[in-house]
Amino acid sequence: MQTLKAEKVFKAGEVIMTQGDAGLCAYFIQEGRVGIVVEKSDGKLLHMGTRGPGSIIGEMAIVDNQPRSATIKSLENCTLLEITKDDFARSVRGADPIVRLIAQVILMRYRDILRRSQTLLADSADSPSAEELEREYAEQINVVEAIKMANEFKVAIACQQLILNYQPILSMETGRILGFEALMRWQHPERGLIPPDMFIPMAEDSGLIVDASRWAIREVCQMLNRLDKARPDMQDLYVSVNLSATDFDDESFLDNLYDTLEETGIPAHRIHIEITERLLLKQPKNVKETLDSCRARGMGIVIDDFGTGYSSLSYLHQYPIDTLKIDQSFIRKMREDAIVFGLVKSILSLSQNMNIRIIAEGVEEFEESALLNELECEMAQGYFYSRPVDEMQVLDLLLKHNGSCPA
Ligand code: C2E
Ligand code: CA
Ligand code: CA
Repeated sequence: MQTLKAEKVFKAGEVIMTQGDAGLCAYFIQEGRVGIVVEKSDGKLLHMGTRGPGSIIGEMAIVDNQPRSATIKSLENCTLLEITKDDFARSVRGADPIVRLIAQVILMRYRDILRRSQTLLADSADSPSAEELEREYAEQINVVEAIKMANEFKVAIACQQLILNYQPILSMETGRILGFEALMRWQHPERGLIPPDMFIPMAEDSGLIVDASRWAIREVCQMLNRLDKARPDMQDLYVSVNLSATDFDDESFLDNLYDTLEETGIPAHRIHIEITERLLLKQPKNVKETLDSCRARGMGIVIDDFGTGYSSLSYLHQYPIDTLKIDQSFIRKMREDAIVFGLVKSILSLSQNMNIRIIAEGVEEFEESALLNELECEMAQGYFYSRPVDEMQVLDLLLKHNGSCPA
């Protein structure tokens, strides 16, 4: 498998980083031990201790861009996982500004103390050493897995290991397919097909989702162009793309989206954006401006998993939302639970009054579909109509639900 060489091997005695140098990366120690040495202003060397598997070294420089505060050498053959400044910057970009500020302040004070004392208190016998604390922390957050997965995911984006499946969204009145939702999968060379729940959270935390979403939007536009060639009569079909809060923190998101539309020639109304209530609650930077701009260009804006968040209705007029997708859990329970049934009915009447379109998601049974039809729900999606399929099968679905292309 191709790798991005995140794993670095240092032989015993090699210098890993030098005091005073610019710090471009930190390392997570997978194997081996390293020694940390600080050169004081009078030229004396201060041995600060050693670190082994589970510790992070060189982390300060990637946080505050200051020169390295110590020289670190490998004491034995070491295998280290690299965390670049870019990796770190991407991860913190989406973090709460208060968390970022506090991290910076703590680090600044820590450097200050280091500078003043140029020594560290020896680890007291009855309290855990810094190394023990770090290792414990790293184990808790399963850092090796997270770093490895993030590095593999970078390869996945670069090497076409990501694929999109498409699930049809149908009109309940006509039974015709109006559009598709694009759902991402990761075709891992060793682990096989990985479902999105297994990698999207990591991609969001690491900020790599921005590149994955860019790829998805381009792929969807190209897929629509291929589809138009095969079905020139179906040029009204749209595709819905799932986006995360981190996508909205990316300042070039809109430019990139519009450039992609222009380059591929896909009109904006054929792309719908799916976001969750949780995303709106997080209030990522510029979310309103971004959504307003997309809507003004004609894109659809869908609230996904509607009903599972805080369901604050205020955002229905605060943001340019044109479609609500009722969460699958409601569809599953509405036939047995009178309260849920009442809720589905109210969402439907609310949307009719507010002129917002509705999709019922996760329709699995004929009875669910019949009931939604009775309630005059406009659109539906779910295994009852079709599971998400690959691009090749999209044409079969169109043939089945929308008929053949007129000669
Ligand atoms: P979602 O956006 O709520 O997508 C709907 C999920 O429900 C999909 O799972 C779909 O396969 C599944 N589903 C559809 N109909 C039925 C049904 O009748 N019964 C049942 N039990 N399930 C049904 P999938 O593809 O595994 O995606 C899971 C989640 O991963 C998505 O939930 C979405 O939050 C996220 N995701 C998927 N693709 C992307 C993407 O490209 N970008 C981002 N940011 N998130 C994505
Ligand atoms: Ca969705
Ligand atoms: Ca959903």
